[in-house]
Amino acid sequence: MNRAPINLYDLTREELRMLFVRWEFPTVHAARLWSYLYLKLASNFSVEAMPELPARVRAKLNAEAMLGILPIALKTDSSDGFTRKYLLSLGDGERIETVLMRFTGRVTACISSQVGCAMGCVFCATGQMGYTRHLTPGEIVAQAVHVARALRGSAPNAAASNRDATPAAVTAHAPARLRNVVLMGMGEPLHNYEAVMQAIDILHDSNGLALAAERITLSTVGVVPGILRLADEKRALHLAVSLHAATQAGRAALVPAARKWPLDELMAACRTYSEKTGRRIFYEWTLIEGKNDSAEDARAVGALLRGLPAQVNLIPLNPTSGYDGGPSRTEAAKAFQRILADEFAVPSTVRQRRGIDIAAGCGQLASVAE
Ligand code: SF4
Repeated sequence: MNRAPINLYDLTREELRMLFVRWEFPTVHAARLWSYLYLKLASNFSVEAMPELPARVRAKLNAEAMLGILPIALKTDSSDGFTRKYLLSLGDGERIETVLMRFTGRVTACISSQVGCAMGCVFCATGQMGYTRHLTPGEIVAQAVHVARALRGSAPNAAASNRDATPAAVTAHAPARLRNVVLMGMGEPLHNYEAVMQAIDILHDSNGLALAAERITLSTVGVVPGILRLADEKRALHLAVSLHAATQAGRAALVPAARKWPLDELMAACRTYSEKTGRRIFYEWTLIEGKNDSAEDARAVGALLRGLPAQVNLIPLNPTSGYDGGPSRTEAAKAFQRILADEFAVPSTVRQRRGIDIAAGCGQLASVAE
């Protein structure tokens, strides 16, 4: 019986070691292979790519394993030069999005966890697409490897200090190593819990990509059982919860998942998470002009979060063709921030919108490429 090849990106370092035990190879070769995968970012099992592997190991890998590299179906750069968006092909012909965002002194990969999404947020291109399937751990890891490979050789590992640097200057000084990953691409990560956590374990491995806990951010629309499980498991990551409205009715209108996990249950889960992990939660608030950006809205979210270990990330809406709403103006965002700070002592940031001209809101590249 022909078995499907093992995607090595699916395996943790310990699982790779156990595979070599099963294959009756010395485990030192598993350790070497691991560093070829994640330090050298090798793209095949050839002698050139993995010179220290014995021929019998190479033959076994060629016969029974694979590297689930995701070919590029489409690549676009934003006109400001800060954002590159990839549409990557999966083995079954499905496509997902991965975004490389350059900020001053750092590079962040925004990666997907599902093909499409079942959560149906009304303003989101992925939500408008619907759900197709979960990604495997290897398909999630492969996106981070793809970005790490794209960065290799692009720049010296030095931080630019000028906040107003031009795109060219930022590119020239951006770190060559991937240090930040956000699970904010297509899909709801907590709807694909097992695969996402396996992928995070692989990304986190100190002998591999070595992404520190504070460099991995998981964004959820508010899947309460997943948040409670994260709390119990005390997972090493940052949690971002998409709030968007501070009343149950307002939230349910924007985020259909709120009907399943109401606001009071979500906030109780968030409190439990912070108590058990000692971690602050980032609350995401997509600012939609005339919809949720008034002083009253700011006071409602301030009252909801007052006293909690919280930071609000205000993100002006990325317009999508399927939603009739626009981003809030800069003055409205600033006024919102002032109310949170002055009246409720809740810290907030206004996120830079990235790559609007290349449809870099989640799901947008896939939807225009169809
Ligand atoms: S915003 Fe996130 S959770 Fe909501 S539909 Fe889009 S991908 Fe899914």
